[in-house]
Amino acid sequence: MIDTGHPPEQMTFQLSLRRRGISDGRVLRAMEEVPRDRFIDAADRPYAWRDSALPIPCGQTISQPFVVAYMTEQLQLEPRHRVLELGTGSGYQAAILAKLAREVLTIERYRTLADTARARLEGLQLYNVEVMLGDALNPAPNLGVFDRIMVTAAVEAVPQSLIDRLDEGGILVAPVGPHHGVQTLVRFRKASEVIERRDLVDVRFVPALAGIAREL
Ligand code: SAH
Repeated sequence: MIDTGHPPEQMTFQLSLRRRGISDGRVLRAMEEVPRDRFIDAADRPYAWRDSALPIPCGQTISQPFVVAYMTEQLQLEPRHRVLELGTGSGYQAAILAKLAREVLTIERYRTLADTARARLEGLQLYNVEVMLGDALNPAPNLGVFDRIMVTAAVEAVPQSLIDRLDEGGILVAPVGPHHGVQTLVRFRKASEVIERRDLVDVRFVPALAGIAREL
């Protein structure tokens, strides 16, 4: 057997991503490089390498690894890209994005989650990602435009305020559908002011809510 330096559960993790159709080598490498167990509370750490979503503080969830890989692949990231993520949560998806893009801004409405994620990302020496406390449904125009936007909380429709932050030729991926139920992962491409839409797969995400959370 080839020794990759990874524990067996991590090798199974990689194999299951490939088997489920993730084929972009850069995405697979990023998934291999980012230790998912560092983004999960101690009690759930034994399940870190399973292909399932897990609870994180503030009633939120860290997405299932397959969905993280799939959404990342759909963004078609290039090393020059500037990326916006709605919903930092654990910080795991932001870490994957940071491996593949020039600069990542991730916005979270819970202070506890934002602070924890920031510390984790710094601990992994991912210095091209900035964690901001705020409402990503309404990103301030002075944040500029982004080549790619990843929405990791369910929206009933993609808000115009996010479309406005997407550069020409840019791609946005979002779970669109009812807040409590099944959503469709949708990919939008902004081409000459026309928005092309492609429906991908069914997913389940926690809802995107307006405003900064009043609880911690
Ligand atoms: N990408 C995360 C998982 C996100 S779960 C990870 O890799 O772990 C969705 C997150 O979006 C939650 O943490 C939730 O608090 C946050 N969220 C929901 N609405 C938001 C908003 N309007 N602005 C910023 N964050 C939001």
